[in-house]
Amino acid sequence: MDRHAIVIGAGLAGSSAAERLAARGWRISLVERAATSGAGASGNLAGVLRPLPSVDDNRLARLTRAAFEYALTHLQALTTAGLPLRWGQTGVLHLARDERHAATQQRVVTEQEPASAYLRWVAREAASELAGWPVADGGWWFAGGGWVDPASLCRANLARHGAAVVPHYRRAVERIEHAAGCWRCFAGSGETIAAAPILVLANAGDARRFAATSHLPLRTARGQVSHLPATAGSAPAVVVCRLGYVTPAIDGLRCAGATFAVDDDEAGLRAADHAENLARLEFILPGYSRHIDAAGLGGRVGFRPLSPDRLPMIGAVADAAALDGQGAAATLADLRRVPGLFVVNGFGARGIVWSALAGELLACLIERSPPALAADLVAAVDPGRFLLPRQRQRLRTGGPQRRGSAPERGDD
Ligand SMILES: Cc1cc2nc3c(=O)[nH]c(=O)nc-3n(C[C@H](O)[C@H](O)[C@H](O)COP(=O)(O)OP(=O)(O)OC[C@H]3O[C@@H](n4cnc5c(N)ncnc54)[C@H](O)[C@@H]3O)c2cc1C
Repeated sequence: MDRHAIVIGAGLAGSSAAERLAARGWRISLVERAATSGAGASGNLAGVLRPLPSVDDNRLARLTRAAFEYALTHLQALTTAGLPLRWGQTGVLHLARDERHAATQQRVVTEQEPASAYLRWVAREAASELAGWPVADGGWWFAGGGWVDPASLCRANLARHGAAVVPHYRRAVERIEHAAGCWRCFAGSGETIAAAPILVLANAGDARRFAATSHLPLRTARGQVSHLPATAGSAPAVVVCRLGYVTPAIDGLRCAGATFAVDDDEAGLRAADHAENLARLEFILPGYSRHIDAAGLGGRVGFRPLSPDRLPMIGAVADAAALDGQGAAATLADLRRVPGLFVVNGFGARGIVWSALAGELLACLIERSPPALAADLVAAVDPGRFLLPRQRQRLRTGGPQRRGSAPERGDD
């Protein structure tokens, strides 16, 4: 087969997929409607890189751990290669939100005995010292975590393999078509933008526009982050989270966020959202926001692509049309797949955490080579899962996965 793929979308999802495929010798035609990479949700000044443990070490916890570890190796490799990635491995302090949460956090550490370089519990005094500010409770300390400038990660991914990735910026794909083993992407004018045997859809919420992926239960969550002016050397010098997050100073600004509103497409900054972020900041670092005026703040709005079960969608697109009239397939293996069509999407509030592992997994699935990830986790992110009877039932009845207006928050 011609090792040539089209990737639509130059955010964290698309740039990671392109990078991992190019590393294996593929040529990539990267199609992006914006003038540059990292112009969508992946364009914040900085976001948080850390995993999300749980008492029962559930799939989300195992996946975020695998993704976090893979991301660290990937970021280190990009840095070593001299690529213009901006990140800071400052450590992430994830404070307990109340006493009960503190007990849960401690239980995770006591029962799972993680390596201390990965996760430690720190009591209030030690947490205050790490934060450089008096805090209300102890929390998890991820010494290897930190902040990442996501747009710089997109740029570094796309630059890593030189001419193997050919970008087509300012080109919006209106339509896709598959004929004689070849996928074609068309502009609104009807002109072909790119053609290749493999097509990867990494275009976030916009993936719903294509008939083959219109069955995917994707939604978007508007998020506003506030930029706080920061003087050199001021606290915190580490990322601190507690139902929100605040980063160290980056270019004289720290990011505090973020709001989370499902199916809300207002693109402009809102004063009320800055006020919400400041209230969140006050909960993280009591007294910190007292002298900050919400009215004068800058910030950025982005739209997170959400999946109803909080797990990303990575892999071959299932042929939903083939199921029509036959009911749901019983297992993932029973599903017919659309030839040559793949998706990497649904990163929600964790794109910085997921993206490198997602790109690697996608490349393995395209090449049919075994991924270095447990089979149940590969199945957990299979985009075909939404066509299986249990998921279909949940989506139809608005069961546990859809309840509430905020199906996930990465910064909780
Ligand atoms: C406020 C906020 C705070 C966040 N904080 C964190 C955090 O702390 N940690 C973390 O891990 N994650 C965080 N995230 C989540 C993370 O940013 C997202 O999960 C991630 O950026 C999604 O990447 P993506 O590539 O799927 O989407 P995007 O970055 O949106 O990329 C999709 C791209 O596809 C392009 N596109 C769409 N349709 C078409 C088309 N038809 N033709 C051509 N191009 C098209 C778009 O222009 C866009 O560039 C945050 C997100 C927000 C909004």
